[in-house]
Amino acid sequence: MSNSTENSQFYDFHSHSHYSDGELSPQALLDYARERQIGCLALTDHDTVAGIDEAIAASDGIRVIPGVEISTSWRKHEIHVVGLNVDRHHESLLNFLKQQRTRRVNRAKEIALALEREGIRDAYEGVLKIACEDNIVRPHFAQFLVEKGYANTMQQAFDRYLKRGKVAYVPTKWPSLEKVIENIHEAGGLSVIAHPMRYKLTSTKLRLLLADFTSANGDGIEVITASHRPNDTHHVARLANEYGLLASQGSDFHGPSSFAKMGHLQPMPAECEPIWTRFDS
Ligand code: AMP
Ligand code: MN
Ligand code: MN
Ligand code: MN
Repeated sequence: MSNSTENSQFYDFHSHSHYSDGELSPQALLDYARERQIGCLALTDHDTVAGIDEAIAASDGIRVIPGVEISTSWRKHEIHVVGLNVDRHHESLLNFLKQQRTRRVNRAKEIALALEREGIRDAYEGVLKIACEDNIVRPHFAQFLVEKGYANTMQQAFDRYLKRGKVAYVPTKWPSLEKVIENIHEAGGLSVIAHPMRYKLTSTKLRLLLADFTSANGDGIEVITASHRPNDTHHVARLANEYGLLASQGSDFHGPSSFAKMGHLQPMPAECEPIWTRFDS
């Protein structure tokens, strides 16, 4: 892709379909992207590339970047690393993601047990009906809790039951940054720290994360994401340059009804090196 940032507000390198916790099918996601004049969209479902073929089939003029958002454990924090431009057929990546989903299934059974202790029954069976195949993401529990009347909104379900510190939060041992980056690289992709300000790390801890990420050969960071305020963007842009990381941008779109809107993001600060200049194949 060209170096030009002219059309870059129409690029979005972080989005979800119903193959993880997005509302839309890949086809509906691409239709929605077309309505919003998106020129380039990365589908980055949590721990699966199952929706990519459908997204490409529905692309019709939009460039689809095959991607995935992988959960990793770093010093007791859950950090999300986005893999961009991965080979979706790569065997070792597919095996690795399958293991991630097995961890998700095991965690889901534990979450269901914790909910059962609160008198909320059959949550595991409930989320299996909502989730796509074996990919159980916490918002599926939130939806189940809303449907059964235990919360009024998905956010309330997180605040009451699912988020860290609440009764049905189950700490999970995800693979290390090194392992995740290595798997993305083996599949020909670039690794990107997702929504860096969402982990609520102190500034020292965030620097430590970037130091560890770069020593593990990580490639980039989301300088632009829908939840950033302008100050966050400038702060992360400076850090990206300091640590020699490429700059990515993505809304983290989960559906028309959620907070993050697709595309139409803030402009990338001029001092950053945009990751899309590396997508030429
Ligand atoms: P999981 O990877 O299964 O732990 O689920 C992570 C997803 O849950 C994120 O990508 C968000 O979509 C959603 N999520 C995480 N924390 C919250 C929260 N506190 N409130 C609302 N949604 C959340
Ligand atoms: Mn999500
Ligand atoms: Mn995420
Ligand atoms: Mn995401």
